[in-house]
Amino acid sequence: MSTYYQPRKYPASDFASMQPGAEALPVVVVGAGPVGMAVALGLAQRGIPVTILEAADQVSFGSRAICISRHSLEAAARLGFGAELEKIVLPWVGGRSFYRDQQVLHFRMPQREFDVRPPMINVSQSEYEQIVVDTIEQNPLITLHWQASIAGILRDDDQVTLEVDTAFGKRHLRAAWVVAADGGRSRMRELAGLRLEGTNYEGRYVIADIHWESELPAERMVWFDPPSNPGSTIIMHKQPKNIWRIDYQLDPSEDAEIETREDAIRARITKHLDWLQNDLPWTLEWHGFYSARALALREFTHDRILFAGDAAHLVPIFGVRGLNSGMEDAETLAWQLAAVVHGNADRALLQAYSIERHDAWEQNVANAGKSTLIMSPGTHGYRTTRDAVLALAVNRPEFGELINPRQSSATHARLSPLTWPVAEGLAGVLPGDPVEDRRVRVAAAGGSTESSLNAVRSNGFAVVGFGLDAAGSAALSAAAADLAAALAPESVRAVVVGADSSGADGSDDVTVLDAPDLAEALGATPGEAFVIRPDGLLLCRVPVGALSGVAAALRAGTAPEGPAVPARPAQILTEDEQRRENVWLGLSDALDQVDPSDREGFLVRLALQLGSQAGHREFEEAIAAATDTSPVSTRELAPQA
Ligand SMILES: Cc1cc2nc3c(=O)[nH]c(=O)nc-3n(C[C@H](O)[C@H](O)[C@H](O)COP(=O)(O)OP(=O)(O)OC[C@H]3O[C@@H](n4cnc5c(N)ncnc54)[C@H](O)[C@@H]3O)c2cc1C
Repeated sequence: MSTYYQPRKYPASDFASMQPGAEALPVVVVGAGPVGMAVALGLAQRGIPVTILEAADQVSFGSRAICISRHSLEAAARLGFGAELEKIVLPWVGGRSFYRDQQVLHFRMPQREFDVRPPMINVSQSEYEQIVVDTIEQNPLITLHWQASIAGILRDDDQVTLEVDTAFGKRHLRAAWVVAADGGRSRMRELAGLRLEGTNYEGRYVIADIHWESELPAERMVWFDPPSNPGSTIIMHKQPKNIWRIDYQLDPSEDAEIETREDAIRARITKHLDWLQNDLPWTLEWHGFYSARALALREFTHDRILFAGDAAHLVPIFGVRGLNSGMEDAETLAWQLAAVVHGNADRALLQAYSIERHDAWEQNVANAGKSTLIMSPGTHGYRTTRDAVLALAVNRPEFGELINPRQSSATHARLSPLTWPVAEGLAGVLPGDPVEDRRVRVAAAGGSTESSLNAVRSNGFAVVGFGLDAAGSAALSAAAADLAAALAPESVRAVVVGADSSGADGSDDVTVLDAPDLAEALGATPGEAFVIRPDGLLLCRVPVGALSGVAAALRAGTAPEGPAVPARPAQILTEDEQRRENVWLGLSDALDQVDPSDREGFLVRLALQLGSQAGHREFEEAIAAATDTSPVSTRELAPQA
């Protein structure tokens, strides 16, 4: 029997227009997608009433995001729906890629003893959103209007007037701040006269959800040029309740209209499952169409309108960074906008939001863009090198690393105007970097209890001191109290690690951690204090005596002058990996620039030059490897359950 998720329907909201002279609403969020709802929960946690306008009468239906990262699960926990979400998800840690019928990559994402959650889980975006709606319905500070579509905006210095289409006619609201989270086709963007800029990729994918009671494990499986569908790329993911997501690439010569008919989709999937020696029945539950885009607004902050999620930026789905990066937008925007709404910070703080999150989009594109060039190479050069990499990877696993999907990882904010400078050469986690959650023990009178760094720091700021004496602990506690007073009602937790906390004010307000590995993991030295922002990024690391400047810098939306935190590569690669990647990208571009009639000549000239720099034996070996790409390993269609 089908278990495909059918979202609940909601009646149209009937609400009155605001009376002239009535005080503007503090915040209206346009769009009850995952990002808009997360912003609303974050603001409500900080005591701010939020009105959400949603055009539809239900959460999204069908297949969109399915891969939710560890970092988003952490955000979900902070926003109050993590525990419910984790009840229905399917965790996974890695995947396999195949070229024709040979395995060419087996990757695993980090899953260490100290981790609190799996690196990735699968769940349908529909069910994810429904859990968030259920959480919102319990929150008296949030009003969600269904079937209320934004139709017009009028901007003043101190408010935005919103014209809303409802089932009962036009309504008008006024808001001091508007969060535009109305998705990739954002009407808010259009009304504000803004356009996305960037790259549209060529490849087109059919996406389908099937119900199939297969015992194959939950992992990412990709086949390039499989015998079942020569020339195509097929991706398979298991979701909860025996739903499988299958994405496959269309050839440029194929007609999308014909290929997205149900009979054509059934035929393709049947061929692939038959080839996997499937003898179980399956049903097609939903299907759609996708092409990759890497587009963003130049700025996300436009006076009183703040763009977030897909309304602000799009990334190709192959690095699973759309919803995941939208959750980061939401958490960052919630604490920064709350500080401004409460009058605790200058509006400059919202420029930091725009700068940080635009840079995060660039980081995501740098990663997802490379995955896209593998999954969906748009030009002759990239298709040729991708196929060559796959053929080489059959016998030389080092080439398989080039097709590692670089699944979503948390982005950093090293370039943010809020990020504090560091002394040159400082090692470990630097300001702007995400601080990973990890298991810790909390010291208590009769021993210690198990917890995690995130649980201890809660959903606000944390000031964490290392190796402090009693006076240091007292200074840290006082600085945390000052910060809390400056940012109220933002929570600020004082935490000391491996310390004598006896001087910390008697100390119910200081949590003492029994976590001997934490200082090493962060690269912290005795006497240092780390200030962690509500969104999990490190704001600064300073001697405990220098904490007093933190509140003032945040209020101004700046950081002290000093040497900037060094740039961080989007992906940490070994020297060899970096070299192979440079060769792949450089060769692809060069092939695309060469006259098509001269491609063979170009490759021979290139090989002659490079070959004459290599030793005789190395060159012979390279010729053998390039000639013989036939498999040596045993045939392995798919991993066994
Ligand atoms: C095939 C596919 C696979 C994907 N896989 C992944 C993945 O595995 N992992 C991942 O992280 N991301 C993935 N994504 C991306 C992810 O789906 C999006 O990034 C995510 O939905 C963005 O959330 P959002 O809240 O910004 O926008 P949306 O989810 O689009 O929500 C916008 C909301 O605004 C509402 N709205 C629209 N217009 C109006 C209006 N005029 N007035 C009021 N409301 C309006 C809409 O009804 C909707 O509810 C995938 C996307 C696709 C298409």
